Amino acid sequence: MFINGEWITTDEKLEVTNPATGKIAYEVHMGGRSEVNQAIEAAVGAFGPWADLPALQRADLLLEVVGLLKAEKERLAKVITTEMGKPIRDSRSEVNMAIDYFRWFAEEARRVYGETVPHSASDKRLMVIRQPVGVVGAITPWNYPIAMMARKLAPALAAGCTAVVKPAPETPQSAIEMMKLFERVGLPAGVVNLVVAPAEVVGVAFMESSDVRKITFTGSTEVGKKLYAGAANTVKRVSMELGGHAPFVVFEDADLDLAAEDLLKTKFRCSGEMCTATNRVYVHESIVDSFSEKLVEKVKEVKVGNGMDDDTVVGPLVNRAGLEKVARHVEDAARQGADVLVGGEVLLEGDFANGNYYSPTVLKNVSKEMQLYNEETFGPVAPIISFSSEEELISEVNHDQYGLASYVYTEDMSRTIRVMEKLEYGMVGINDPLPFVVQGPFGGMKESGLGKEGSRHGIDDYLEKKLVSIRFRKG
Ligand code: ADP
Repeated sequence: MFINGEWITTDEKLEVTNPATGKIAYEVHMGGRSEVNQAIEAAVGAFGPWADLPALQRADLLLEVVGLLKAEKERLAKVITTEMGKPIRDSRSEVNMAIDYFRWFAEEARRVYGETVPHSASDKRLMVIRQPVGVVGAITPWNYPIAMMARKLAPALAAGCTAVVKPAPETPQSAIEMMKLFERVGLPAGVVNLVVAPAEVVGVAFMESSDVRKITFTGSTEVGKKLYAGAANTVKRVSMELGGHAPFVVFEDADLDLAAEDLLKTKFRCSGEMCTATNRVYVHESIVDSFSEKLVEKVKEVKVGNGMDDDTVVGPLVNRAGLEKVARHVEDAARQGADVLVGGEVLLEGDFANGNYYSPTVLKNVSKEMQLYNEETFGPVAPIISFSSEEELISEVNHDQYGLASYVYTEDMSRTIRVMEKLEYGMVGINDPLPFVVQGPFGGMKESGLGKEGSRHGIDDYLEKKLVSIRFRKG
């Protein structure tokens, strides 16, 4: 753990298993309530001086982090792949994302503008100043261990906040590596602190502390709801990026080759372990057979293997529970009448024997009763559903609960406008499987989240607006 600029050890260890081999990859120290409290105290102590620094000085430190991330990209990518299994090319992209976030928010630090407001009395002047919210509790997931820390810490630090970070138990080493970078650039002690401790203990400590003024969380909707409720006690600010259940819609006028190729990117990239990953593929009934054939041909070529191999596209899933959930979803769908066109197997032979490997899968004739129609699968499974009209599609596609990312393939401009406006999703890619860039606001609607990360809006969640009215003698 990294608390108040020092490395803290305990007698309790947390083992991290490499999902490709089943072997222990890292052993890290585990703390408890006392370490969380120390970390909060350190962040409280560091807050005043950090917030008081000119924005440019904070920005310069963030730019130094950018430099180190660039220099250490390959090593960091290997740590990510070792801990959570994603293919190394995706881990490299993840480090690039982190670079983008630190760079963007280093630039944004200088643009935290206030306002002057017209007065209502001639001896008064009104202004709105924006100030950092204070100590931030950041809880991060295992699927993007470095990029999600970057997406939270870069705006927090740029705004002048200090932070306590709790990483997922699957990926503590990535978080430790980030702390080493902060230490190397000389970030003042206490500005960022890392605690590795049981999730509930950290959650409760954050919730009970009135010093923690904001929670930023990326993870499941279930845990997000608990944290949202807990934050009510001290009326903390919250921002949450929660589960998704992305639809990928292929209309009859779409470029089918493009759609099939792009589906690979939203479905099989990062082994399908992304909250923006496609979970339902809606294809117009007139093209469902030809599209399915094209997709199956492409999926047969998808290389499964140890994430460390440069040509791996689908690596092992993060853990046994993740693998079992994927297998359960496919079995349930098959039992209820879905056709397994390719894949549908836990891979157990040869090099796969000790890892959590699932074969890239395409299912057809998927219907609403099936588990994977309603729950996030988080694995390499593409379930195809056919639809007959745009009206039917819209009423089906807007999921009751989730509203994170969605993708639509069509060459019809009028349809594009109609559909994009009706989709109840925070992000829509039209003929684009990757709409996510640092300058665009990332976030969901409904139970997929609160607040936006990245973009010029991303720093707002870390700032309070304060009204100041100055009455003066008119001379
Ligand atoms: P996933 O199912 O993808 O692992 P989770 O929501 O369980 O998603 O985990 C996301 C992050 O939230 C992890 O860092 C996890 O340890 C943490 N977490 C889980 N439960 C709690 C809790 N009750 N309080 C605080 N953090 C939690």
